[in-house]
Amino acid sequence: MQQNSLSVVDVEAERFRHFIVSVTDYAIYTLSPEGIVVTWNAGAQRFKGYHPEEIIGRHFSVFYTDEEQARGRPARALELARTSGKFEDEGWRVRKDGTRFWASVVLDPIRDDAGELLGFTKITRDITERRNAAEELERAREVLFQSQKLEAVGKLTGGIAHDFNNLLNVVMNGLDLLRVAPDPAIRAKTLDTMERAAQRGASLIQQLLTFARQQPLLQETHDIGRIIRSFEAVLRRAVPSGMRLQLQLQPEVLPAMIDVTQFEAALLNLVVNARDAMPDGGVVQVDAAAVQLEAGEVEQLPAGAYVRVVVRDTGEGMSPETQLRAVEPFFTTKEVGKGTGLGLSQVYGLAQQSQGGLKIDSRVGEGTAIELYFPAVELPVDRLAASHEFAAEKVLLVDDQPDVLETAIGLFSHLGYDVLSANDGPQALETLRRHSDIAILFSDVVMPGMSGVDLAHIVRQEFPAIRVILASGYNQSALEGGKASADNFDLIAKPYRLSDLIKTLGAAQPG
Ligand code: ADP
Ligand code: MG
Repeated sequence: MQQNSLSVVDVEAERFRHFIVSVTDYAIYTLSPEGIVVTWNAGAQRFKGYHPEEIIGRHFSVFYTDEEQARGRPARALELARTSGKFEDEGWRVRKDGTRFWASVVLDPIRDDAGELLGFTKITRDITERRNAAEELERAREVLFQSQKLEAVGKLTGGIAHDFNNLLNVVMNGLDLLRVAPDPAIRAKTLDTMERAAQRGASLIQQLLTFARQQPLLQETHDIGRIIRSFEAVLRRAVPSGMRLQLQLQPEVLPAMIDVTQFEAALLNLVVNARDAMPDGGVVQVDAAAVQLEAGEVEQLPAGAYVRVVVRDTGEGMSPETQLRAVEPFFTTKEVGKGTGLGLSQVYGLAQQSQGGLKIDSRVGEGTAIELYFPAVELPVDRLAASHEFAAEKVLLVDDQPDVLETAIGLFSHLGYDVLSANDGPQALETLRRHSDIAILFSDVVMPGMSGVDLAHIVRQEFPAIRVILASGYNQSALEGGKASADNFDLIAKPYRLSDLIKTLGAAQPG
């Protein structure tokens, strides 16, 4: 019995030895502890060109290139195999005829039961072809990438260049007009148009930068609901009168890490898209809520708590083909000059960079919902309380010029104010009566109907606690015969810059 099983082992060992010797796809050989070749199989002969009798007894460093030998690479390989139990490597090796091949090498130490080093086994594969194929693929990929880049640049030239040209035209015509037109009203209007063009150019650049990922995000924890609320005035201005904008914001705090400027730009892009999709009017709805996602529910987002922002319209919807390409930079179905194709790519870029996601739900003829997801941030309870305590001061901005109003809204929001707006005096008074917590009134002076100074006087009577700041393009003495300054309203000259605003607001602070 015992005798029998031993002989089976012997037979197995012999069979195994035979197998090793005759394997031709791998070079398998053994080395003495010093690196002298001890055994040599058919694969080794095939790869390296040495017959067993030519190589057995020689040092294995002959397989290395001269440079590698000079750098002591063979000895280091043995050393590493001995100390760490295994050594794996890829590199050039040399055949008997001097030609090279790219080898994948595994070197294992062999030890006896007492742990004494008996030698090494070495398995080598020739993967030159695989390496060549990989290099070829990499080259092809690079070429494809370059040609895609060129295509994108081509589209850029066609689309954006056209837009910029129009904007530059507005600015250059405006400059011509300013040189010759003496009428202050025309000059003011021209300045407004030029400013609008410059702002549109700036927002195009913003989108391009976001697209090129050149714009690092300024991520901070913010209550998304609050940001949308304070951005509402701008969104309203983006939709025409025949269209309704509805906000449905969960009243609880919705904290997430976002870049406010980029988020606002994304929101505006989505609302503008919704507007464009509803030439005959309709409803744009902006929702924000806290949601719990299962893994895989949205793109590759992991399961967890998210803040979801949805911009929904009842417009023409997207075909499946459009839907597939919608977030592609420069993809647009709009006529030249109307669309840049960068809106959704900005939105998508922002979602990606915020570790969030984007989902498009659209049906032709029914409408579109674009869902944005941002990872929710857990705020410690006392932080939440604090953020309520430090609720921003509310300011009411009044100007009859929509573009000027929009700029003012931007500046005040940037300064951290909670912004409300009105287009004229009566509307401002109505807003003041509805919101008892308005701290500052910031009004244009020259407006049709009730002037800013008239408004200021009523406000002083009815709401004595509210600080009044008047903005005018004319100098102080022109303000209704100095009445405004005599009444001690704070004044700021138009056009004002952010720094002017900070100075005036600082002076208007209590204490
Ligand atoms: P642009 O608005 O400049 O065309 P976008 O990246 O914002 O570029 O949008 C790309 C395309 O996606 C649009 O041209 C349009 O075909 C489609 N699209 C985006 N939003 C909507 C929407 N709300 N309804 C229908 N189609 C839309
Ligand atoms: Mg767009």
